[in-house]
Amino acid sequence: MSTQTIPNITLNNSATIPQIGFGTLNVPPDRNPSPENTAKTAHFVSMALELGYRLIDTAQMYGNERGVGQGIADSGIPREQLFVTSKLGNGNHRPDDVRRSFDETMQKLALEYLDLFLIHWPLPTLYDGDYVSTWKAMTELLDDGRVRSVGVSNFQPNHLERIISETGITPVVNQIEVHPGFNNDAARAASARYGIAVEAWSPLGQGKVLEEAVIKDVAAKKGKTTAQVILRWHIQHGHIVFPKSMHRERMQENLALFDFDLSPDEVTAIDSLDKGESGRIGANPDTFDWIPSGEAPTPTIKP
Ligand code: NAD
Repeated sequence: MSTQTIPNITLNNSATIPQIGFGTLNVPPDRNPSPENTAKTAHFVSMALELGYRLIDTAQMYGNERGVGQGIADSGIPREQLFVTSKLGNGNHRPDDVRRSFDETMQKLALEYLDLFLIHWPLPTLYDGDYVSTWKAMTELLDDGRVRSVGVSNFQPNHLERIISETGITPVVNQIEVHPGFNNDAARAASARYGIAVEAWSPLGQGKVLEEAVIKDVAAKKGKTTAQVILRWHIQHGHIVFPKSMHRERMQENLALFDFDLSPDEVTAIDSLDKGESGRIGANPDTFDWIPSGEAPTPTIKP
């Protein structure tokens, strides 16, 4: 697989990001950063890079940043050819914790700069609902050049509206749950209105949408796998995706999306699998308030 065939998306700050990458949630399936797990993460990340992936998506809460950094180092691929994303943990929303935890992220990844740092969840029911201060602190990280772009994840239309109107700074991406089964239309449309690129997380619905009859029919017609058809659907919608797999053949298969396309009717048929809210498999960002154990947020003082 030549990396030349992976299209780039230009973000609203002119940075470019490969449209497909490698997701590392549950690589390995345990958030414990033990030396053993770190070695496993490094193994799969360097395998992904060897196969042609150039975008790697991790997060503080995945517990695998050290392994991601190790895998990058082991690959020997020049830093400037890579695009590395991490995300702020839910326990780190206070501005001081944004800065401190960003330093920790950089130390674990052992990189001089990060391409993209995201607020992982808005947590509107925590921190007195103040994700605006968190966003401001994220944008201030841009000043010393150690992060090239900042964005958000799981932001609903009203969350986007609020951070943009109160800071004047628009995120470059909104990383949200999208797959056949849950099109997440409102969040996608709001992102598009603001010129924010959509990163579709769980693009394969964590494997739950691979058996849909409509998708199987298209796959049979094209001589492709159902995973490839779904990922191609995302590509044609302009989403950035980073499917996760720990199988070499599947990792290869998930990159081989650029020698076929779906007709407009096929795209529409897959669109129509949307089940609305009931198709959501992850948490609802309006109510999600999980903080990893040992990372309780310090209560903020109300003015
Ligand atoms: P996914 O949709 O990528 O599905 C992964 C699962 O699909 C695998 O475990 C495997 O069982 C199956 N699979 C993968 N390739 C396959 C293939 N070719 N054939 C058959 N089965 C295949 O789910 P995900 O890992 O949840 O999402 C991808 C990435 O998105 C994550 O790794 C992470 O980086 C990111 N993510 C972000 C958030 C967020 O809140 N921002 C939440 C979830 C995931």
